[in-house]
Amino acid sequence: MRIVTGTVSHETHVMSNISTGLDEFRSRRLLYRDELFSEFTGTATPAGGIIEGCKQQGFELVSTVFASATPSGIVTKEAFDTILGGILEGIREAEPYDAVVLHLHGAGVSEEYLDIEGKVLSEVRKIAGDRPVVATLDLHANYTELMLDNADMLIGYDTYPHIDGYERGVEAVELTARMLDGSLKPTLGFRQPPMLPALQVQFTGRYPMKRLIEEAHRMEEMEGVESITVAAGFPWSDIPEAGMSFIVTTNDDQELADRLAGELHDMAWEMRRDFLVTPTPLAEALRHVGRSEEGPIVLADIGDNPGGGAPEDGTVVLKAVLDEGLTGGVFAVIWDPESAKTAVEAGVGGEVSLMLGGKTDDMHGKPLHVTGVVKSVSDGKFTNLGPMGTGAEADMGTTAVLDIGGNDVIVTSKRLQPYDLGVYESQGIDIKGKRFVVVKSSVHFRAAHEPVASEIIELDTPGLTSPRLAGFKFRNIRRPIFPLDVEMLGITELKSMEDE
Ligand SMILES: [Zn+2]
Repeated sequence: MRIVTGTVSHETHVMSNISTGLDEFRSRRLLYRDELFSEFTGTATPAGGIIEGCKQQGFELVSTVFASATPSGIVTKEAFDTILGGILEGIREAEPYDAVVLHLHGAGVSEEYLDIEGKVLSEVRKIAGDRPVVATLDLHANYTELMLDNADMLIGYDTYPHIDGYERGVEAVELTARMLDGSLKPTLGFRQPPMLPALQVQFTGRYPMKRLIEEAHRMEEMEGVESITVAAGFPWSDIPEAGMSFIVTTNDDQELADRLAGELHDMAWEMRRDFLVTPTPLAEALRHVGRSEEGPIVLADIGDNPGGGAPEDGTVVLKAVLDEGLTGGVFAVIWDPESAKTAVEAGVGGEVSLMLGGKTDDMHGKPLHVTGVVKSVSDGKFTNLGPMGTGAEADMGTTAVLDIGGNDVIVTSKRLQPYDLGVYESQGIDIKGKRFVVVKSSVHFRAAHEPVASEIIELDTPGLTSPRLAGFKFRNIRRPIFPLDVEMLGITELKSMEDE
C-alpha cells in the first residue's frame, strides 16, 4: 500500500501583529518531499509516528509538503496558497496511492479562510475521492463541520504538554490500515459544549482535563470504540467553533458514537466551574521567591507564551525582578534579534547597554533599558531532550546569554517556546543550582521542568496569552459561551475576577 502525507501546522492568534508569511514557515520548517524523512525519522513527533507507522505496516510513504510556523498572526493568502497548492500537487503526483494521512494543527486562520484545516481537508477529499483521508491534530484544534465532513478520521493528541504526537501518528496509520483491509468502517460522533477553556486548565496532568481524558480512555476500551479525541481548543483563533470538542470514532455504530460524545459533552459541562484559572499576582510570587530557600522555582510568564502566538519579547517580569533586586534567576527567554546581534558584536565578556524587548506591541511591557555583560554567544541550535518532541531539532537563532543584575537572561533571534531543558543546556546553564527560572510558556514547560522544579507558579502577567479571556475582543466566537458569558457559570464569582 502507498500512503501520501502532508502538513500545514499553524496556531493562529488573530490579535497578534506578527503576520505569518512564507518566511515564518521557512524560519521554523518548510520541507519538501523527502526532506521530511531526514528531519523526522526517529523523533517523538506526529511526523515521526506516521513514518514509523508506515514502516510497521509495510506501507510506502510519499511526502508532499511539511509546513509549520511558530504561532503568530493570520497566515497570508500567499503562504497558505503556496502550501496547500504544494500538498495537492504532491498528492496528485503520488498516484496511484491508497490513502492520505495528514498532520494538521486545527487552529489555523488565513486571510481568506477562518478554518484552514477544513479547506485543506475539503480540497484533499476532492482529489482523493473515496480513499481514506485521515489526519492527526493538536489538542488545541478547533473542530468544524467542514473538517468532519471531509475526513474519515481525525485523531487528536491526548496530552498537554503534547508528549503523544508520535503515538497518535502510529495510531492514525494503524487505523488507516484497518480501513484499507476492510475491517474498520469509521463512524463519528461529534459534540461541542459551549466552553472556551484558557490554556492553564487544559493541562492534562490535573483535574479537570485529566478527568475527561481518563473517561475517554475508559470508553476507548469498550467494544466497537476505536478512538476518542478530547480537544480543548484554542480561543484566540476567534472562529465560531473555537473551544472544546469531543469526537468519538466507532466501528460502524452511529448510536454508540453519538451517545458517548454526548456523555463527554455533559460531563465537561457539569465541571465547567472547575475550568477557571486563578494565576498568582506577580508581586506576590516574587515576594515568595525572595523568602524561599529552595530552588529552582519555575515562574511561568503565561501572558507571553510564543507557543500561543504572543511575541516572547515581554519585559514585565524582568522589570519586576530587577526592581525587586532579585538575583540568581534565569530568563527563558527574551526574543530580540537586535539585542542578540549587539551582544554578539560585543563578544563574550563585553558590556552592552540595550533597550531590551518590548518591541512588538504595547501589551507585554515597554523596551527595558538595561546594561549587561555577555556570558556566552551561540547559534541557538539544539536537539530536544524531551519528553516533548524528543530528538527533533530546535532553533532559537543567534543567541546570547547576558548577566543582567545577577540573572542569566537568554536573548534569542527566533521565537521558540522554551519548554525543553535543551534551551539551558545548549547555553551552558544548569538551572538546578538557580533560585528561579522564568519561562515564557503556558503549560508545555511542565513536561521537562516539573522533575527539576522545587515548585511551579503561574504568573498573572498581561499579554496575548493571558487566561483572562474576558479582556479580549473576540468577534467571531459563537455566543453565549463559557466563561465569556458569566451567566453560564451559575455563580457570580467569575464576574468580579474578570472585572479586576
Ligand atoms: Zn497545542
